[in-house]
Amino acid sequence: MPATNIDTKTHENGKKHAEKPMGKADSKFLPHLVTKLPGPNAKKIVDLDHEILSPSYTRDYPLVAKRGRGAMIEDVDGNTFLDFAAGIAVVSTGHCHPKVVAAIQQQAAELIHMSGTDFYYPNLVELAEKLASIAPGKGAKRVYFGNSGTEAIEAAMKLARYHTRRDKIIAFYGSFHGRTMGALSLTASKAVQRKGFGALLAGVIHMPYPNMYRGSHGIHPETATADCLAFLENEVFKRLADPEEVAAIVIEPIQGEGGYMPAPAEFLQQLQKICRKHGIMLVMDEVQSGMGRTGKWWACNYSEVEPDIICTAKGIASGMPLSAMISRAEVMDWKPGAHASTFGGNPVCIAASLATIDLLEHEYIANSRKMGEFIVAQTAKWPEKHRSVGDIRGRGLMIGIEFVKDKKTKEKAPELRNHLVKAAFDKGLLVLGAGDNSLRLAPPLLINEEQASFAIETLDACITEAERSL
Ligand code: PLP
Repeated sequence: MPATNIDTKTHENGKKHAEKPMGKADSKFLPHLVTKLPGPNAKKIVDLDHEILSPSYTRDYPLVAKRGRGAMIEDVDGNTFLDFAAGIAVVSTGHCHPKVVAAIQQQAAELIHMSGTDFYYPNLVELAEKLASIAPGKGAKRVYFGNSGTEAIEAAMKLARYHTRRDKIIAFYGSFHGRTMGALSLTASKAVQRKGFGALLAGVIHMPYPNMYRGSHGIHPETATADCLAFLENEVFKRLADPEEVAAIVIEPIQGEGGYMPAPAEFLQQLQKICRKHGIMLVMDEVQSGMGRTGKWWACNYSEVEPDIICTAKGIASGMPLSAMISRAEVMDWKPGAHASTFGGNPVCIAASLATIDLLEHEYIANSRKMGEFIVAQTAKWPEKHRSVGDIRGRGLMIGIEFVKDKKTKEKAPELRNHLVKAAFDKGLLVLGAGDNSLRLAPPLLINEEQASFAIETLDACITEAERSL
Protein backbone atom coordinates (compact mmCIF):
# COMPACT_ATOMS: atom_id res chain seq x y z
CA MET A 1 0.00 0.00 0.00
CA PRO A 2 1.60 3.32 -0.96
CA ALA A 3 2.44 5.51 2.02
CA THR A 4 -0.32 7.95 1.15
CA ASN A 5 -2.90 5.22 1.57
CA ILE A 6 -1.66 3.79 4.83
CA ASP A 7 -0.86 6.89 6.84
CA THR A 8 -2.03 6.49 10.43
CA LYS A 9 -3.89 9.77 10.02
CA THR A 10 -6.42 7.69 8.14
CA HIS A 11 -7.77 6.94 11.60
CA GLU A 12 -8.54 10.51 12.40
CA ASN A 13 -11.83 10.82 10.64
CA GLY A 14 -10.21 12.95 7.99
CA LYS A 15 -11.04 16.12 9.91
CA LYS A 16 -7.50 17.41 9.60
CA HIS A 17 -7.29 16.73 5.88
CA ALA A 18 -8.40 19.11 3.19
CA GLU A 19 -11.35 17.81 1.17
CA LYS A 20 -10.15 16.16 -2.00
CA PRO A 21 -12.03 15.76 -5.26
CA MET A 22 -13.82 12.42 -5.57
CA GLY A 23 -11.98 9.50 -7.07
CA LYS A 24 -8.55 11.06 -7.02
CA ALA A 25 -5.98 8.30 -6.89
CA ASP A 26 -3.73 10.29 -4.57
CA SER A 27 -6.32 10.54 -1.78
CA LYS A 28 -5.36 8.74 1.41
CA PHE A 29 -8.94 7.68 1.81
CA LEU A 30 -10.01 6.41 -1.59
CA PRO A 31 -9.35 3.27 -3.64
CA HIS A 32 -6.69 3.01 -6.28
CA LEU A 33 -6.66 0.06 -8.66
CA VAL A 34 -3.40 -0.79 -10.39
CA THR A 35 -4.28 -4.15 -12.00
CA LYS A 36 -7.26 -5.80 -13.58
CA LEU A 37 -9.18 -7.68 -10.89
CA PRO A 38 -8.20 -10.18 -9.76
CA GLY A 39 -4.52 -9.32 -10.23
CA PRO A 40 -1.98 -12.10 -10.90
CA ASN A 41 -1.05 -12.67 -7.24
CA ALA A 42 -4.65 -12.67 -6.13
CA LYS A 43 -5.59 -15.15 -8.83
CA LYS A 44 -2.93 -17.63 -7.67
CA ILE A 45 -4.19 -17.52 -4.09
CA VAL A 46 -7.83 -17.80 -5.07
CA ASP A 47 -7.02 -20.91 -7.16
CA LEU A 48 -5.11 -22.52 -4.25
CA ASP A 49 -7.83 -21.56 -1.80
CA HIS A 50 -10.45 -23.27 -3.94
CA GLU A 51 -8.43 -26.49 -3.79
CA ILE A 52 -7.76 -26.60 -0.04
CA LEU A 53 -10.32 -24.55 1.92
CA SER A 54 -13.77 -25.70 2.97
CA PRO A 55 -16.14 -25.20 0.04
CA SER A 56 -18.80 -24.01 2.50
CA TYR A 57 -17.36 -20.48 2.49
CA THR A 58 -19.21 -17.89 0.40
CA ARG A 59 -17.00 -15.43 -1.44
CA ASP A 60 -18.69 -12.96 -3.78
CA TYR A 61 -15.54 -11.57 -5.38
CA PRO A 62 -11.81 -12.35 -5.48
CA LEU A 63 -10.46 -9.90 -2.91
CA VAL A 64 -7.20 -11.25 -1.48
CA ALA A 65 -6.35 -8.97 1.42
CA LYS A 66 -2.77 -8.24 2.38
CA ARG A 67 -3.07 -5.42 4.89
CA GLY A 68 -5.48 -2.81 6.11
CA ARG A 69 -5.45 0.62 7.68
CA GLY A 70 -8.54 2.57 8.71
CA ALA A 71 -11.23 1.88 6.15
CA MET A 72 -8.72 0.92 3.44
CA ILE A 73 -7.60 -2.55 2.38
CA GLU A 74 -4.65 -3.31 0.15
CA ASP A 75 -4.67 -6.55 -1.82
CA VAL A 76 -1.71 -8.76 -2.75
CA ASP A 77 -1.26 -6.92 -6.07
CA GLY A 78 -1.10 -3.42 -4.60
CA ASN A 79 -4.71 -2.45 -5.36
CA THR A 80 -6.41 -0.49 -2.60
CA PHE A 81 -10.10 -0.74 -1.74
CA LEU A 82 -12.52 1.20 0.40
CA ASP A 83 -13.96 -1.30 2.87
CA PHE A 84 -17.70 -0.92 3.48
CA ALA A 85 -17.94 -4.49 4.75
CA ALA A 86 -15.49 -4.24 7.69
CA GLY A 87 -14.91 -8.00 7.83
CA ILE A 88 -18.68 -8.55 8.23
CA ALA A 89 -19.27 -5.53 10.48
CA VAL A 90 -16.35 -6.41 12.75
CA VAL A 91 -13.49 -3.90 12.51
CA SER A 92 -15.40 -1.13 14.26
CA THR A 93 -12.32 1.06 14.83
CA GLY A 94 -10.97 0.35 11.35
CA HIS A 95 -8.24 -2.01 10.30
CA CYS A 96 -5.24 -2.13 12.63
CA HIS A 97 -5.98 0.99 14.61
CA PRO A 98 -2.62 1.97 16.18
CA LYS A 99 -4.13 2.04 19.68
CA VAL A 100 -5.69 -1.40 19.27
CA VAL A 101 -2.48 -2.79 17.77
CA ALA A 102 -0.44 -1.35 20.67
CA ALA A 103 -2.83 -2.85 23.24
CA ILE A 104 -2.59 -6.27 21.55
CA GLN A 105 1.20 -6.11 21.35
CA GLN A 106 1.59 -5.05 24.95
CA GLN A 107 -0.74 -7.74 26.26
CA ALA A 108 0.80 -10.44 24.03
CA ALA A 109 4.20 -9.65 25.49
CA GLU A 110 2.82 -10.03 29.01
CA LEU A 111 0.28 -12.86 29.03
CA ILE A 112 -1.34 -14.49 26.00
CA HIS A 113 -3.51 -17.11 27.63
CA MET A 114 -4.58 -18.35 31.04
CA SER A 115 -8.22 -19.46 30.70
CA GLY A 116 -10.79 -17.55 32.66
CA THR A 117 -12.58 -20.85 33.18
CA ASP A 118 -10.02 -21.94 35.79
CA PHE A 119 -7.97 -18.85 36.65
CA TYR A 120 -8.32 -15.15 37.43
CA TYR A 121 -6.70 -12.23 35.62
CA PRO A 122 -7.29 -8.49 35.93
CA ASN A 123 -8.45 -7.41 32.49
CA LEU A 124 -11.19 -10.08 32.47
CA VAL A 125 -12.83 -8.23 35.37
CA GLU A 126 -12.07 -4.83 33.88
CA LEU A 127 -13.87 -5.59 30.62
CA ALA A 128 -16.78 -7.29 32.39
CA GLU A 129 -17.27 -4.17 34.51
CA LYS A 130 -17.14 -1.95 31.45
CA LEU A 131 -19.63 -4.06 29.51
CA ALA A 132 -21.95 -4.23 32.51
CA SER A 133 -21.87 -0.44 32.73
CA ILE A 134 -22.81 0.10 29.07
CA ALA A 135 -25.35 -2.73 28.80
CA PRO A 136 -28.95 -1.51 28.71
CA GLY A 137 -30.79 -1.36 32.04
CA LYS A 138 -29.79 0.06 35.40
CA GLY A 139 -29.57 -3.03 37.61
CA ALA A 140 -26.53 -5.22 38.35
CA LYS A 141 -25.25 -7.43 35.53
CA ARG A 142 -23.06 -10.48 35.07
CA VAL A 143 -20.93 -11.26 32.03
CA TYR A 144 -19.94 -14.49 30.29
CA PHE A 145 -17.23 -14.44 27.60
CA GLY A 146 -17.05 -16.58 24.47
CA ASN A 147 -15.12 -16.47 21.22
CA SER A 148 -17.80 -15.85 18.60
CA GLY A 149 -21.33 -14.63 18.11
CA THR A 150 -22.72 -18.11 17.89
CA GLU A 151 -21.13 -19.01 21.25
CA ALA A 152 -22.75 -16.00 22.91
CA ILE A 153 -26.11 -17.18 21.54
CA GLU A 154 -25.51 -20.77 22.70
CA ALA A 155 -24.71 -19.41 26.15
CA ALA A 156 -27.88 -17.29 26.15
CA MET A 157 -30.03 -20.26 25.12
CA LYS A 158 -28.55 -22.44 27.84
CA LEU A 159 -28.81 -19.73 30.49
CA ALA A 160 -32.44 -18.95 29.61
CA ARG A 161 -33.35 -22.65 29.85
CA TYR A 162 -31.39 -23.07 33.07
CA HIS A 163 -32.81 -20.01 34.77
CA THR A 164 -36.44 -20.55 33.79
CA ARG A 165 -36.38 -24.38 33.77
CA ARG A 166 -38.45 -24.13 30.59
CA ASP A 167 -37.44 -25.45 27.20
CA LYS A 168 -39.25 -23.58 24.40
CA ILE A 169 -37.51 -20.73 22.59
CA ILE A 170 -39.16 -18.35 20.14
CA ALA A 171 -37.17 -16.83 17.28
CA PHE A 172 -38.04 -15.01 14.06
CA TYR A 173 -38.16 -15.73 10.36
CA GLY A 174 -35.28 -14.00 8.61
CA SER A 175 -33.10 -14.15 11.70
CA PHE A 176 -29.46 -15.20 11.79
CA HIS A 177 -28.04 -16.24 15.14
CA GLY A 178 -25.10 -18.42 14.17
CA ARG A 179 -24.17 -21.85 12.89
CA THR A 180 -23.53 -24.16 15.84
CA MET A 181 -26.42 -26.58 16.33
CA GLY A 182 -28.23 -24.58 19.03
CA ALA A 183 -27.85 -21.18 17.39
CA LEU A 184 -28.60 -22.74 14.00
CA SER A 185 -31.91 -23.98 15.39
CA LEU A 186 -32.85 -20.33 15.94
CA THR A 187 -31.50 -19.19 12.58
CA ALA A 188 -34.18 -18.96 9.89
CA SER A 189 -32.43 -16.95 7.23
CA LYS A 190 -31.58 -19.26 4.32
CA ALA A 191 -32.47 -22.95 3.95
CA VAL A 192 -28.93 -23.69 2.72
CA GLN A 193 -27.65 -22.89 6.20
CA ARG A 194 -29.78 -25.71 7.68
CA LYS A 195 -29.95 -28.13 4.76
CA GLY A 196 -28.28 -31.50 5.26
CA PHE A 197 -27.76 -31.20 9.00
CA GLY A 198 -30.77 -33.20 10.12
CA ALA A 199 -33.04 -32.47 13.05
CA LEU A 200 -32.15 -29.38 15.02
CA LEU A 201 -32.97 -28.45 18.60
CA ALA A 202 -36.50 -29.36 19.67
CA GLY A 203 -38.68 -26.66 21.18
CA VAL A 204 -37.70 -23.81 18.86
CA ILE A 205 -40.65 -21.96 17.32
CA HIS A 206 -40.38 -19.33 14.59
CA MET A 207 -42.71 -16.42 14.01
CA PRO A 208 -42.79 -13.48 11.56
CA TYR A 209 -40.53 -10.47 12.11
CA PRO A 210 -42.15 -7.04 11.78
CA ASN A 211 -40.71 -6.15 8.40
CA MET A 212 -41.51 -2.48 7.85
CA TYR A 213 -41.10 -2.72 4.08
CA ARG A 214 -42.89 -5.98 3.40
CA GLY A 215 -45.18 -6.47 6.40
CA SER A 216 -45.31 -9.57 8.56
CA HIS A 217 -46.52 -11.96 5.84
CA GLY A 218 -45.44 -9.99 2.80
CA ILE A 219 -48.39 -7.59 3.12
CA HIS A 220 -49.44 -4.50 5.11
CA PRO A 221 -46.18 -3.00 6.37
CA GLU A 222 -48.20 -0.38 8.24
CA THR A 223 -49.71 -3.03 10.54
CA ALA A 224 -46.59 -5.21 10.82
CA THR A 225 -46.17 -4.58 14.55
CA ALA A 226 -49.77 -5.40 15.42
CA ASP A 227 -49.85 -8.39 13.04
CA CYS A 228 -46.72 -9.94 14.56
CA LEU A 229 -47.92 -9.38 18.12
CA ALA A 230 -51.28 -10.94 17.24
CA PHE A 231 -49.45 -13.91 15.72
CA LEU A 232 -47.50 -14.39 18.92
CA GLU A 233 -50.58 -14.21 21.16
CA ASN A 234 -53.10 -16.01 18.95
CA GLU A 235 -51.03 -18.55 17.07
CA VAL A 236 -47.84 -19.26 19.02
CA PHE A 237 -49.18 -19.01 22.57
CA LYS A 238 -52.56 -20.60 21.81
CA ARG A 239 -51.55 -23.34 19.36
CA LEU A 240 -47.88 -24.18 19.85
CA ALA A 241 -46.55 -23.31 23.28
CA ASP A 242 -48.15 -22.10 26.44
CA PRO A 243 -46.23 -18.95 27.48
CA GLU A 244 -45.39 -20.66 30.76
CA GLU A 245 -43.29 -23.15 28.82
CA VAL A 246 -41.33 -20.50 26.95
CA ALA A 247 -37.82 -19.87 28.23
CA ALA A 248 -36.84 -17.06 25.84
CA ILE A 249 -37.73 -14.89 22.91
CA VAL A 250 -34.56 -14.22 20.94
CA ILE A 251 -34.57 -11.24 18.57
CA GLU A 252 -32.17 -9.11 16.56
CA PRO A 253 -33.36 -5.51 17.06
CA ILE A 254 -32.06 -4.98 13.53
CA GLN A 255 -32.01 -8.15 11.46
CA GLY A 256 -28.50 -8.33 10.01
CA GLU A 257 -28.11 -11.24 7.66
CA GLY A 258 -31.88 -10.91 7.13
CA GLY A 259 -31.45 -7.62 5.25
CA TYR A 260 -30.50 -4.87 7.74
CA MET A 261 -34.12 -4.50 8.76
CA PRO A 262 -34.86 -2.68 12.07
CA ALA A 263 -37.78 -3.81 14.22
CA PRO A 264 -40.08 -0.93 15.18
CA ALA A 265 -39.47 0.44 18.69
CA GLU A 266 -43.07 -0.23 19.61
CA PHE A 267 -42.72 -3.90 18.71
CA LEU A 268 -39.69 -4.35 20.95
CA GLN A 269 -41.44 -2.52 23.79
CA GLN A 270 -44.53 -4.72 23.49
CA LEU A 271 -42.35 -7.81 23.34
CA GLN A 272 -40.69 -6.73 26.58
CA LYS A 273 -44.11 -6.34 28.23
CA ILE A 274 -45.18 -9.79 27.09
CA CYS A 275 -41.93 -11.33 28.31
CA ARG A 276 -42.24 -9.68 31.70
CA LYS A 277 -45.85 -10.77 32.04
CA HIS A 278 -44.99 -14.43 31.46
CA GLY A 279 -41.50 -14.64 32.99
CA ILE A 280 -39.92 -15.18 29.56
CA MET A 281 -36.30 -14.07 29.04
CA LEU A 282 -36.05 -11.35 26.40
CA VAL A 283 -32.76 -12.03 24.61
CA MET A 284 -31.36 -9.34 22.30
CA ASP A 285 -28.95 -10.62 19.72
CA GLU A 286 -26.76 -7.56 19.20
CA VAL A 287 -23.89 -9.56 17.77
CA GLN A 288 -23.99 -7.40 14.65
CA SER A 289 -25.94 -4.32 15.74
CA GLY A 290 -24.14 -3.73 19.04
CA MET A 291 -20.94 -1.96 20.10
CA GLY A 292 -21.87 1.40 18.64
CA ARG A 293 -22.52 0.39 15.04
CA THR A 294 -25.95 2.04 15.04
CA GLY A 295 -24.77 5.33 16.55
CA LYS A 296 -25.72 4.25 20.08
CA TRP A 297 -24.08 1.49 22.10
CA TRP A 298 -26.96 -0.84 21.27
CA ALA A 299 -29.65 -0.86 18.63
CA CYS A 300 -32.17 -1.60 21.39
CA ASN A 301 -31.25 1.75 23.01
CA TYR A 302 -33.44 3.30 20.28
CA SER A 303 -36.49 1.61 21.78
CA GLU A 304 -35.33 1.90 25.38
CA VAL A 305 -36.02 -1.75 26.12
CA GLU A 306 -34.00 -3.52 28.77
CA PRO A 307 -33.40 -7.12 27.73
CA ASP A 308 -32.81 -9.82 30.32
CA ILE A 309 -29.89 -11.07 28.26
CA ILE A 310 -27.89 -9.32 25.55
CA CYS A 311 -25.34 -10.96 23.25
CA THR A 312 -22.58 -9.14 21.47
CA ALA A 313 -19.51 -10.05 19.43
CA LYS A 314 -18.33 -8.75 16.03
CA GLY A 315 -17.39 -5.10 16.75
CA ILE A 316 -16.37 -5.74 20.35
CA ALA A 317 -12.61 -6.15 19.80
CA SER A 318 -11.88 -4.69 16.33
CA GLY A 319 -11.32 -8.14 14.81
CA MET A 320 -9.98 -10.21 17.71
CA PRO A 321 -12.25 -13.19 18.44
CA LEU A 322 -14.38 -12.33 21.44
CA SER A 323 -18.03 -12.39 22.39
CA ALA A 324 -19.99 -11.57 25.49
CA MET A 325 -23.32 -12.65 26.90
CA ILE A 326 -24.48 -10.14 29.51
CA SER A 327 -27.49 -10.75 31.72
CA ARG A 328 -29.28 -9.25 34.65
CA ALA A 329 -27.28 -10.46 37.64
CA GLU A 330 -30.10 -12.52 39.14
CA VAL A 331 -30.66 -14.33 35.84
CA MET A 332 -27.11 -15.74 35.76
CA ASP A 333 -27.76 -18.24 38.51
CA TRP A 334 -26.06 -21.28 36.99
CA LYS A 335 -23.60 -23.18 39.14
CA PRO A 336 -19.81 -23.69 38.72
CA GLY A 337 -19.19 -26.09 35.85
CA ALA A 338 -22.53 -25.40 34.14
CA HIS A 339 -20.95 -23.51 31.24
CA ALA A 340 -17.47 -22.33 30.24
CA SER A 341 -14.94 -22.05 27.41
CA THR A 342 -11.17 -22.60 27.36
CA PHE A 343 -10.43 -19.59 25.17
CA GLY A 344 -13.40 -17.32 25.95
CA GLY A 345 -12.19 -14.00 27.32
CA ASN A 346 -8.61 -14.45 26.17
CA PRO A 347 -6.40 -11.67 27.66
CA VAL A 348 -5.18 -10.43 24.26
CA CYS A 349 -8.72 -10.21 22.88
CA ILE A 350 -9.78 -8.40 26.03
CA ALA A 351 -6.96 -5.87 25.69
CA ALA A 352 -8.11 -5.23 22.11
CA SER A 353 -11.66 -4.83 23.35
CA LEU A 354 -10.78 -2.32 26.07
CA ALA A 355 -8.89 -0.21 23.52
CA THR A 356 -11.79 -0.55 21.08
CA ILE A 357 -14.38 0.52 23.63
CA ASP A 358 -12.31 3.57 24.56
CA LEU A 359 -12.14 4.65 20.91
CA LEU A 360 -15.84 3.98 20.34
CA GLU A 361 -16.82 5.91 23.43
CA HIS A 362 -14.72 8.98 22.70
CA GLU A 363 -15.07 9.28 18.99
CA TYR A 364 -16.49 6.60 16.75
CA ILE A 365 -20.03 6.05 18.04
CA ALA A 366 -20.74 9.73 17.43
CA ASN A 367 -19.08 9.45 14.03
CA SER A 368 -21.20 6.41 13.19
CA ARG A 369 -24.35 8.38 13.92
CA LYS A 370 -23.14 11.39 11.92
CA MET A 371 -21.94 9.43 8.90
CA GLY A 372 -25.06 7.24 8.98
CA GLU A 373 -27.26 10.33 8.86
CA PHE A 374 -25.14 11.71 6.02
CA ILE A 375 -25.49 8.52 3.95
CA VAL A 376 -29.21 8.18 4.59
CA ALA A 377 -29.77 11.85 3.62
CA GLN A 378 -27.66 11.53 0.46
CA THR A 379 -29.47 8.39 -0.67
CA ALA A 380 -32.98 9.42 0.42
CA LYS A 381 -34.07 10.08 -3.18
CA TRP A 382 -32.77 6.78 -4.56
CA PRO A 383 -36.15 5.01 -4.33
CA GLU A 384 -37.55 7.77 -6.62
CA LYS A 385 -34.48 7.99 -8.83
CA HIS A 386 -33.80 4.27 -9.29
CA ARG A 387 -36.55 1.92 -10.39
CA SER A 388 -34.82 -1.03 -8.72
CA VAL A 389 -34.30 0.53 -5.27
CA GLY A 390 -37.27 -0.50 -3.13
CA ASP A 391 -36.15 0.64 0.28
CA ILE A 392 -33.25 2.21 2.19
CA ARG A 393 -33.18 1.87 5.97
CA GLY A 394 -30.92 1.58 8.94
CA ARG A 395 -29.38 3.31 11.88
CA GLY A 396 -25.87 4.71 12.16
CA LEU A 397 -23.54 2.73 9.92
CA MET A 398 -25.85 -0.25 9.63
CA ILE A 399 -27.67 0.62 6.43
CA GLY A 400 -29.56 -1.71 4.11
CA ILE A 401 -30.58 -1.06 0.49
CA GLU A 402 -33.22 -3.42 -0.88
CA PHE A 403 -33.52 -4.13 -4.62
CA VAL A 404 -36.75 -5.14 -6.37
CA LYS A 405 -37.84 -5.99 -9.90
CA ASP A 406 -41.09 -4.11 -9.48
CA LYS A 407 -41.88 -1.45 -6.91
CA LYS A 408 -45.59 -2.37 -6.74
CA THR A 409 -45.25 -6.12 -6.33
CA LYS A 410 -41.92 -5.77 -4.47
CA GLU A 411 -40.68 -8.84 -6.33
CA LYS A 412 -37.14 -9.38 -5.08
CA ALA A 413 -34.14 -8.77 -7.37
CA PRO A 414 -31.39 -11.07 -6.02
CA GLU A 415 -29.49 -11.28 -9.33
CA LEU A 416 -29.28 -7.50 -9.55
CA ARG A 417 -28.06 -7.28 -5.95
CA ASN A 418 -25.41 -9.93 -6.65
CA HIS A 419 -24.33 -8.06 -9.75
CA LEU A 420 -24.01 -4.79 -7.80
CA VAL A 421 -21.81 -6.36 -5.12
CA LYS A 422 -19.42 -7.49 -7.85
CA ALA A 423 -19.67 -4.22 -9.83
CA ALA A 424 -18.79 -2.19 -6.72
CA PHE A 425 -15.73 -4.40 -6.15
CA ASP A 426 -14.59 -3.74 -9.71
CA LYS A 427 -14.64 -0.02 -8.84
CA GLY A 428 -12.71 -0.52 -5.58
CA LEU A 429 -15.60 -0.57 -3.10
CA LEU A 430 -16.10 -3.59 -0.84
CA VAL A 431 -19.71 -4.30 0.14
CA LEU A 432 -21.66 -7.41 1.12
CA GLY A 433 -25.17 -8.59 0.47
CA ALA A 434 -27.73 -9.17 3.23
CA GLY A 435 -30.91 -11.22 2.94
CA ASP A 436 -32.14 -12.32 -0.49
CA ASN A 437 -31.92 -8.98 -2.25
CA SER A 438 -30.37 -6.27 -0.08
CA LEU A 439 -26.96 -4.67 0.13
CA ARG A 440 -25.49 -3.90 3.51
CA LEU A 441 -23.36 -0.85 4.18
CA ALA A 442 -21.30 -1.67 7.28
CA PRO A 443 -18.03 0.26 7.11
CA PRO A 444 -15.66 0.78 10.02
CA LEU A 445 -17.14 3.47 12.26
CA LEU A 446 -14.31 5.91 11.51
CA ILE A 447 -15.15 6.66 7.88
CA ASN A 448 -15.06 10.28 6.82
CA GLU A 449 -17.35 12.23 4.50
CA GLU A 450 -15.04 11.77 1.55
CA GLN A 451 -15.28 8.01 1.89
CA ALA A 452 -19.03 8.05 2.49
CA SER A 453 -19.45 10.18 -0.64
CA PHE A 454 -17.24 7.86 -2.67
CA ALA A 455 -19.31 4.85 -1.61
CA ILE A 456 -22.57 6.63 -2.43
CA GLU A 457 -21.36 7.83 -5.84
CA THR A 458 -19.89 4.46 -6.70
CA LEU A 459 -23.08 2.59 -5.84
CA ASP A 460 -25.19 5.21 -7.59
CA ALA A 461 -23.12 4.73 -10.76
CA CYS A 462 -23.29 0.91 -10.48
CA ILE A 463 -27.08 0.99 -10.07
CA THR A 464 -27.52 3.42 -12.98
CA GLU A 465 -25.34 1.27 -15.24
CA ALA A 466 -27.11 -1.93 -14.21
CA GLU A 467 -30.57 -0.44 -14.71
CA ARG A 468 -29.65 0.57 -18.27
CA SER A 469 -29.28 -3.07 -19.20
CA LEU A 470 -32.39 -4.32 -17.39
N1 PLP B 1 -25.95 -13.22 15.52
C1 PLP B 1 -25.96 -12.29 14.57
C2 PLP B 1 -27.00 -11.22 14.60
C3 PLP B 1 -25.02 -12.33 13.53
O1 PLP B 1 -25.05 -11.39 12.58
C4 PLP B 1 -24.04 -13.35 13.55
C5 PLP B 1 -23.05 -13.43 12.47
O2 PLP B 1 -23.19 -12.88 11.42
C6 PLP B 1 -24.06 -14.30 14.57
C7 PLP B 1 -25.01 -14.21 15.56
C8 PLP B 1 -23.02 -15.38 14.63
O3 PLP B 1 -21.79 -14.83 14.88
P1 PLP B 1 -20.43 -15.63 14.55
O4 PLP B 1 -20.33 -15.72 13.06
O5 PLP B 1 -19.36 -14.80 15.18
O6 PLP B 1 -20.56 -16.95 15.19
